[in-house]
Amino acid sequence: MHPDTTILRHFLGGPGILPMAPEYLATSAIICLNLEWWQKEPHPTTEIGIAEFFPSTTGPSMHAANHLSNIRIAHARIMPHAHLENQFSGAGKAEDLFYFGTTKYITLSSARDILTNTLLRTNTAGQKQPIILLLHGAEAKLAHLKNKLGVDVAGLGTVVKILDTQTLAKQANIPAQKGAMISLADLSRHFNIAPVNHHNAGNAAAYTIMCGILATLKHEIYGKYLPATGLSQVPPTTILGRSMGDVVGSVMRANRNAPVVPWGTEVFCTRCDGLDHLVGMCMARVLCEECLGSGDPRKVRAARTHKVEKCVFRVRGDGGGAMDLSN
Ligand SMILES: [Zn+2]
Ligand SMILES: [Zn+2]
Repeated sequence: MHPDTTILRHFLGGPGILPMAPEYLATSAIICLNLEWWQKEPHPTTEIGIAEFFPSTTGPSMHAANHLSNIRIAHARIMPHAHLENQFSGAGKAEDLFYFGTTKYITLSSARDILTNTLLRTNTAGQKQPIILLLHGAEAKLAHLKNKLGVDVAGLGTVVKILDTQTLAKQANIPAQKGAMISLADLSRHFNIAPVNHHNAGNAAAYTIMCGILATLKHEIYGKYLPATGLSQVPPTTILGRSMGDVVGSVMRANRNAPVVPWGTEVFCTRCDGLDHLVGMCMARVLCEECLGSGDPRKVRAARTHKVEKCVFRVRGDGGGAMDLSN
């Protein structure tokens, strides 16, 4: 049984390659998933982010720039739930807050298919590809995948290892700022990555996989720039003229210039469901009959801002009517 950092380290070239590596590592794909869901019950999935790392055989350059440039990231919002906005810090709202490419809109059933097909691939010989799955806070993500999206990761038979960035951080002696487990924002800051809109699922997938790689390589890349007694400290932002901000900027640019994923649609209105404009340009008349007839002044005032199917007052625990999660 290898610790998580050892498994990931095997893919990062140089001296960390396992001499007696399990056979599956030779053909594995490294996939990172992130999911966002509405903070209120019944927590419908609002976004998915998928990142894949294509290993480079050369050892790490400064800030692992050579490895980070081999990450590709996709982001999608789930059409029937994309109007549900979270109110906490880092929750992306506007349509253009995915910094690593182009946001697509997909149905809930295509989200299920895309996630399943990402983890269940066959090569030209018809063999299933082993998957190393990286998640931040794996337990909650796996439960959400199974219970809300119907994707049972354990049942797919392809995921040979689940890595958690919170465990990788612990193994690299990176201290949590609050509580037992480090947050994605704090882990990003530890590596001088500004966690901007880190609850956009695409950005979160990007930050997760970058932090996973950096945590695995921390002592190798930064050890000589940190005091011997301070290996748990934040590494310098700029070393030998190369700043982490520049590295992240080039990962963003490379992903924005990469081909857009073939699935989903780029234009979708989260207010009227139109396919020819985004919500900022919406001129459709919409009305929520339930809010209009509710007698509650707050709801009556809001009645012409949304359709009844998108009524945020209608979900379980706040005005009756459970949200339909089947579409
Ligand atoms: Zn519209
Ligand atoms: Zn309403």
